[in-house]
Amino acid sequence: MTKKIYEYKDDQDWYVGSYSVFGGIRTLTDEEIDFPLFELSQIFRDEERGFPLSVTVLRYNSPYRLLSFVLDILNQEAGRNLEVIQRQGALLLIENGQLLHVELPKEGVDVETFFETSKVRETLLIATRNEGKTKEFRAIFDKLGYDVENLNDYPDLPEVAETGMTFEENARLKAETISKLTGKMVLADDSGLKVDVLGGLPGVWSARFAGVGATDRENNAKLLHELAMVFELKDRSAQFHTTLVVASPNKESLVVEADWPGYINFEPKGKNGFGYDPLFLVGETGKSSAELTLEEKNSQSHRALAVKKLVEVFPSWQSKPSL
Ligand code: IMP
Repeated sequence: MTKKIYEYKDDQDWYVGSYSVFGGIRTLTDEEIDFPLFELSQIFRDEERGFPLSVTVLRYNSPYRLLSFVLDILNQEAGRNLEVIQRQGALLLIENGQLLHVELPKEGVDVETFFETSKVRETLLIATRNEGKTKEFRAIFDKLGYDVENLNDYPDLPEVAETGMTFEENARLKAETISKLTGKMVLADDSGLKVDVLGGLPGVWSARFAGVGATDRENNAKLLHELAMVFELKDRSAQFHTTLVVASPNKESLVVEADWPGYINFEPKGKNGFGYDPLFLVGETGKSSAELTLEEKNSQSHRALAVKKLVEVFPSWQSKPSL
């Protein structure tokens, strides 16, 4: 039988592993691995095989990802049913409803909030009715141990008007209002296009640049009109922007933001995407974001960059005690 090689790779973590005899975890990076290897080797020890995995770490950032990788191999090769859940920065190792091991963050966790609910998986409410957006966030937060719901699960909640003058104000308004009304942890986003020569417009008015209820085509036409006297592409620099806010009762909200830089073209091109995508030339590529496939756009867009930042800072924010 050939031995199966497992691999996990993203921008921040990269591991290769296999099910083996008397294995271990070795690293080819300078990063120190704060991984609970000793405790795990006790839990997973096999009479004949010792620690039954060989894992090589080529890039290391997240103990959660490394532990998930190890558990995946054990589940597939040894028929185990292990899962890891991240809660307030702590890692909980669970099998068939039994808690096997808890790995605490260096700064510890707040005792009261850690034990205040007997439910292991927490819920994150996304402040949107858009199922596509929800699906993207669910894919990310499911891995962090959260059940994701959206506003369609709360049909009686009022609409929150986006009356802010900045992306952060709008995202805060949505996240903090809905968190107060429901008592839940809520994630809200606000995005738009900022054009430098227009002093950051259309900005928070991106969806209604040509008037309330305007179509994408009308907004694009208005943008081209505003830029009609700007003849050089280099003077038509712009960024797509996203701000994400996570609000939780009695807690300072978490805010992250990201920009995706580019230029506004002289005419629309490309058929994919939505909004200003046909006019937005990505970086120095000369390609509009409407010429990218969904996968290409989702791997580099303002939203993707903001979500990446959120995933980095979320566990330590979540482990901070409430006010
Ligand atoms: P929202 O905050 O995600 O609803 O975005 C507000 C508006 O910004 C949208 O209606 C679009 O006009 C514009 N926008 C935001 N993200 C994008 C994008 O990825 N491509 C094109 N237009 C966008």
